[in-house]
Formats: sequence, structure tokens, C-alpha cells
Amino acid sequence: MLIPFKKLEYHTIRCPVCTSDDFEQILKSKLPLSTYKINISICKSCGHIYQNPKLSNADEYKFNKDFYGYFYGSKKDSETEKEYKFILDRTKEYLPSEKISILDVGAGTGIGLKSLSKYLDAELSAIESQETVIQNYSSMGISLVSTDFNNIKNIDLKFDLIILRHTLEHSVNPESLIIDLKHLMNSDTVLYIAVPNLQAACSPIRFNFFILPHLQYFSHDHLSHLLSKQLKIINSQPGDQLCKGEMWFLLKRDVGKKIDLKNFYFQNSIHFKSILRQESKVSNLMVYLKKIMFVVYKFASHHLKRTNKR
Ligand SMILES: [Zn+2]
Repeated sequence: MLIPFKKLEYHTIRCPVCTSDDFEQILKSKLPLSTYKINISICKSCGHIYQNPKLSNADEYKFNKDFYGYFYGSKKDSETEKEYKFILDRTKEYLPSEKISILDVGAGTGIGLKSLSKYLDAELSAIESQETVIQNYSSMGISLVSTDFNNIKNIDLKFDLIILRHTLEHSVNPESLIIDLKHLMNSDTVLYIAVPNLQAACSPIRFNFFILPHLQYFSHDHLSHLLSKQLKIINSQPGDQLCKGEMWFLLKRDVGKKIDLKNFYFQNSIHFKSILRQESKVSNLMVYLKKIMFVVYKFASHHLKRTNKR
């Protein structure tokens, strides 16, 4: 069966920001036409919001590899290119003027990365695991340096700009991913990180924000703390005029000012429980029905294409 109705494995994990095991679940939801559950919890020790209990690593890998496309839409190339132009606008003052090397971690189709060469003389590299997209990289002038995010520390290369755009929120252990990335940085490397901003979550949040592939829902305070333990934050915005829903950080390998971790459990808990209560049942139902239609459409068009190929 293509969409899984089998029993899936879930297990509880510690808070990825403060390692506490004290949490409260604030939302249980389900992906339509499947047995996938989304468990959203808040850490009682620091207020970070993350998926817990979490789908087992094996089931999560299978979802990303086989089912992601049925549940979540693919973007237009022009939209991706526009989003990558934001990266240049935010980083250009920190980049060298001569030819630069760029690594995109979780580069997807590579279209965004490739579009940067319109504005810069750049050597393009990527880390990406999806087989269907990486086969196009060589014709796009992109070198694939690894297909495995767990293998980063074995890569013997340094880059001028490392992009981690909407990737960190997919990581079960964001701090260890950052530690691994330090191996690819020299003292001038700029690391660009952008993630969805918890404080700008778009409604209805149970469908549009708390989605299965996102394991972390960072606030600016929590991510600042986590990043400042490993790197120096040279600039950051919890949303700017280019994109309000996206917070971003520019980082260097030096030791910078450590940002203390404060406990936002009460604020975050009251705020998100109240939003979830207030979201209208009618709008939730409409989004749920739209989602079902989307999954059926993607499923049917995928199978129609396969039948036509035969
Ligand atoms: Zn915590």
C-alpha cells in the first residue's frame, strides 16, 4: 500500500535545546489518509516546542523518501529563486568580492543554489539525500559533496558561504548538526541559517505550521542560545522586511557572546494553547478537506504518470 495504514513507531525524546525530559503535549494531530501522527510538545524546563513523542528514525526516513511529496506541495522555481535572492541580500556585505565557494546543506532541487550564480562568481556544492533531485546536479554545475547529513564531519573541504535554509528544523539534534558544520568553516566562513519563526506561525497552526517533517519549532531566543554555544552570531533577525515568517542568523566560527537560556514555558504554553483553542472548527475542517483533496490529487497524478509510462 502506498500511503501507510500500518502501525508506526513513536518514542519520547529529550528537549533538543536544554536536554530536559520534562514535557507537556499540547497537540495531537494526524495526517489525512494515513496513520502518521504529529505530537507537538513543550519543554517545561525551557519552553522549546518540538515533536515529542517522535516518529522512529526508520519510519521518518521512509516518510521523507517515499511520502513527503504526497502530503506537501512543491514550490515554483521562481519562488525558490526569490527566496535564495533573500540570502544574498542578507549576506552580501560579509562575503568576499572574488570568486566564492558555496555549500548548500539540504539543497533540494538545487534551483535556488544555481540561481545564486546569476549574481556571483561562485563554485556550487551541495549536501542532499533525495535521489530524484541529485541526478540533475552535474548538469546544473553543482558538485554533490555528500548524500548523508550524518557524515558531514568526514568531508575535508572548507567553504566561504554555507547555507542551511529551512533545514535545521528537520534535524532531531540541531546542536550536533551545528558542531559538525564547524568542520567545514574557516575563520572567514559565513554560515547562514534560516528557519520558520515560531512567533510568526501562520494559522491554522495545526495544519500550516506544526507539520510532520518539522521536528523543531524555534523561537528566536531558543535558537540564539543554541547557536551561541557553538558559534559567534554576527547578525540575526526574527523576521525582516524581506520575509516576516522567517528568522535568520549569520554566524562565524569564532567564540562569541553566549546567550543565556531563559524559561519561556509559561508564555509559550499559554500563547499556543490559546491559539489552538481559538482556531475556528470551520476553518480547520476546510483546511483538512483541502489537504485530503491535495493528497488524492498527488496520488492520482503520480499513478497516472506511471501508467502512461508503461
Ligand atoms: Zn528544554
